Amino acid sequence: MSFQRIAIIGLGLLGGSIGLACKAYLPEVETTGYDRDPATRKRAAERGLVGHVCETPQEAARQADLVIFCVPPGAMGDAAREIAEALPAGALVSDVGSCKQSIARALAEALPNHRAGGAIIPAHPVAGTENSGPDAGFAELFHNRWCIVTPPEDANLTLLTQLTTFWEALGANVELMSAQHHDLVLAVTSHLPHLIAYTIVGTASDLEEVTRSEVIKYSAGGFRDFTRIAASDPTMWRDVFLSNKEAVLEMLQRFTEDLTALQRAIRVGDGQALFDHFARTRAIRRSIIAEGQDDARPDFGRGDHR
Ligand code: NAP
Repeated sequence: MSFQRIAIIGLGLLGGSIGLACKAYLPEVETTGYDRDPATRKRAAERGLVGHVCETPQEAARQADLVIFCVPPGAMGDAAREIAEALPAGALVSDVGSCKQSIARALAEALPNHRAGGAIIPAHPVAGTENSGPDAGFAELFHNRWCIVTPPEDANLTLLTQLTTFWEALGANVELMSAQHHDLVLAVTSHLPHLIAYTIVGTASDLEEVTRSEVIKYSAGGFRDFTRIAASDPTMWRDVFLSNKEAVLEMLQRFTEDLTALQRAIRVGDGQALFDHFARTRAIRRSIIAEGQDDARPDFGRGDHR
């Protein structure tokens, strides 16, 4: 692994997990970190998320050969502008943001010299939890998870190889794709499910005929699995929907059509259509388990904690 000094900007779930994973799996690498929130910087130092927590982003980036932005999607451009003067010429710039086209544009505008040298290579580890902040990170977050790297066409190939090796060292499997394709794939696998979860949890809590305590009491019927997703960070998810607007709206259109078809099947009593649809979706769940992307135990391994 050829990076020697890694700067992490944003020390929440993703930044903290990268810092801890570097400490565990790349102990020879020096890490610096910065977060704009003084309380987060203090907690990051207490937990040892990075080797040195800096008081300014410039200080964190000054010696780095890899800078990874781990801030919300809408904050990437500002965070990159802040370190522009301090960033060493040969350093690779990357990020972990959940949408790639808008972030690639924001980083390129903020750091035109690095863009020209093919030294901005965005990435997205498809790994996370509903928790955020400096206490949320853990070193194993990326184990057996995919990290999608979205190099621009003129990316520096040596840096690309180094970035791939870096993510593999943290336990991830790496896949390369265009930023555009990433945004389409994630719109259906991540962004749309979050939108649906946010909607259904909101709908249930707005109902007048069913009390809030009933919703909570009987949540094991399925509702609680949506609440985990709907507890995800509001800032991040606001930014995701604003940043990946076109792909999300396209997937939402398809979803609405499919929902209408199911609605019709229920109305006309077409049990076969419902059965066929549910049988197809059950097979998808089984493939996810077969590929090690979720827990095969019943009820997600919750055991007796119902
Ligand atoms: P998080 O836990 O909220 O951490 C983000 C941190 O960045 C916060 O402490 C925030 O401070 C700080 N920050 C905001 N603007 C900044 C700036 N200009 N300079 C320095 N620090 C700044 O969020 P996260 O879950 O780690 O998400 C970070 C990124 O990872 C996002 O782009 C997200 O799309 C991506 N991602 C998230 C997940 C997930 O499951 N959460 C999964 C994959 C990728 P404040 O609290 O003061 O704003």
